[in-house]
Amino acid sequence: MLVAILKEARQDETRVALTPDAAKAVAGMGFSVAVESGAGLQAGASDEDYQAVGASISTKRGELLASADIFPVVNALPAGDQAQLKSGSVMVGFLRPLDEPAALEVAVQRGVTLFSMELVPRITRAQSMDALSSMATVAGYKAVIVAADHLPKLFPLLMTAAGTIPPAKVLVLGAGVAGLQAIATARRLGAVVEAYDVRAAAGEQVRSLGAKFIEVDLGGLQTEDKGGYATELSMEAMELGRRAIAKAARIADVVISTAQVPGRRAPLMIPAAVVEAMRPGSIIFDLAAPAGGNCEVTKPGETIVYHGVTVFGPVNLAAEMPVHASMLYSRNLSNFLQLILKKGELNINRADEIIAGSCVAFGGEIVNERVAAALHTAG
Ligand code: NAD
Repeated sequence: MLVAILKEARQDETRVALTPDAAKAVAGMGFSVAVESGAGLQAGASDEDYQAVGASISTKRGELLASADIFPVVNALPAGDQAQLKSGSVMVGFLRPLDEPAALEVAVQRGVTLFSMELVPRITRAQSMDALSSMATVAGYKAVIVAADHLPKLFPLLMTAAGTIPPAKVLVLGAGVAGLQAIATARRLGAVVEAYDVRAAAGEQVRSLGAKFIEVDLGGLQTEDKGGYATELSMEAMELGRRAIAKAARIADVVISTAQVPGRRAPLMIPAAVVEAMRPGSIIFDLAAPAGGNCEVTKPGETIVYHGVTVFGPVNLAAEMPVHASMLYSRNLSNFLQLILKKGELNINRADEIIAGSCVAFGGEIVNERVAAALHTAG
């Protein structure tokens, strides 16, 4: 059976689904691996690197699409590519099945089996396949580095003969995987950091990184689901959080916002009036931009200046660190592939919790209820 690693079609994509190391692991499971020439270049992997681990190189994308059995991808193949796939072939990657279900329809109709890395359940056994956490780690780090680069101030406290420079103040909203990495990075650069999250459990993690946790009394409200994710809050609870955020944002040099609720628009935490009250030259880095943004003035995919405050709304930040983002992603992906590839054959045990949770389509049908509902709504 043939595993094909193609060049990503998306313009802003620099990552590759499987690095040469991961390709070697897949070949070791008894598969042939073919790589579209140049697929790994932006992620630091040349065609020769792939050849060195036994993969073949091809410039004929159409032939790979029509002949391969398994397509590990970063982003879903575009519809034109999907139209060339074999029935029963497998595509696995960040397929955005809840955000853009219609973009998968051609593959579903052709009987392609689809697995979404976003839907891998966050259970202990699947931790090594948690690609969302991998990308959030990269994005949390990069957000702080970009913000520090653009801030017209130094981050650390400096005591010099010319006087003392106070440390930069960083406010982090949402202390999940990306937020915690942002806190750790900002602390390492010497900033004073405050953070807010609706999940009380986040408080201890924030404090353990040397940051202050902003406590908001939500009157014992249930703020997290069984999976440890935040739930959508009532208007009243959101307003209590917003008040605390407004106070902290006014004096912050950098706000990094990461708050998300799976399957919903990102919660609105920074109204325009709060941006207007921030000092000119301050920065908002809105990591929730792909889900609509935490800040009212965020423009997903753009960097704007609003009342002197620079507001970043990146939609694919992990792609700005392609080498390590690809390394982590391809390890997550090859760990997933080990579940469905056995002795050189596809072996899809749909009773397995991880396989069942992440499977979007099988045998020409959408098998995930949430995706079917999203498609219905979109249609
Ligand atoms: P996420 O990207 O969905 O959200 C980021 C953060 O925003 C979360 O901490 C969330 O609580 C917070 N948030 C949401 N709405 C908010 C609001 N209105 N105000 C303030 N904060 C708000 O989350 P994530 O980073 O992917 O992870 C969320 C949780 O899942 C964390 O507890 C994390 O440790 C846990 N997790 C578990 C596993 C596992 O394998 N068991 C893996 C990864 C993450």
